[in-house]
Amino acid sequence: NTLINLQHLTKRFSRSGNEVTAVDGVDLNIREGEIYGIIGYSGAGKSTLIRMLNGLEQPTSGSVTVNGLEMSSISGAELRKARQKVSMIFQHFNLLWSRTVEENISLPLEIAGADKAARAERVRELVRLVGLEGREKAYPSELSGGQKQRVGIARALANEPRVLLCDEATSALDPETTDSILDLLTSINRRLGLTIVLITHEMHVIRKICHRVAVMEAGKVVEEGDVLQVFKSP
Ligand code: ADP
Ligand code: ADP
Repeated sequence: NTLINLQHLTKRFSRSGNEVTAVDGVDLNIREGEIYGIIGYSGAGKSTLIRMLNGLEQPTSGSVTVNGLEMSSISGAELRKARQKVSMIFQHFNLLWSRTVEENISLPLEIAGADKAARAERVRELVRLVGLEGREKAYPSELSGGQKQRVGIARALANEPRVLLCDEATSALDPETTDSILDLLTSINRRLGLTIVLITHEMHVIRKICHRVAVMEAGKVVEEGDVLQVFKSP
């Protein structure tokens, strides 16, 4: 079952008179419930591509549909609603530093208009899900990198998204912490059936958790398929 469909997706930037084609005619299908990896060197176009999946960046041409909804044809309230269903975690966590763990996790619930009791209940569930029990009142500056990313994951899951986008989500973490975050993502994928799309420059991340992978070079997908086939040893 296709959840995300990209057709001839292209994004050009013009920078001091020069045109850069960041994403160049990409066709991809991402299935419901899979962990899909996009790997490539810096500058390959990965983050531009993933930002078009939640409408943070508009395509120059081509289309992105998520669950049948064409992302580039919507705006305003409809786009904000669609974005709740395609949430994202980041390399540098993007937490609010003046708010506690539970306040950070609660924020998307407040924005969505949930009442106080519903928020408190949902925050408790999310804290348990990501293993942060006992750290609810801590501030981000008091947390390790791995704990900060757990807050990012809990916040991203608050409004029960259909898709979790991960933008180099483990690149700021040491190898051991990386593995614990990848284990958490795998368990969330299994338990909730959540579709995960991640971008990375690290082969280890792809091999450890992805079912399928696309390899990007200079804006194009140059290889695509099951991880075991794409990266089989010669
Ligand atoms: P990756 O995530 O694989 O490192 P990016 O999508 O960040 O790749 O970048 C792809 C290309 O697009 C690069 O040449 C980059 O410099 C360019 N690019 C990305 N964002 C912008 C922007 N906002 N303005 C101009 N050029 C950009
Ligand atoms: P780690 O323990 O994972 O190394 P850091 O404390 O170094 O995490 O922070 C990771 C990122 O968060 C960095 O990009 C850093 O600049 C940013 N950061 C850390 N503290 C603050 C703060 N008080 N305000 C804004 N950004 C911060």
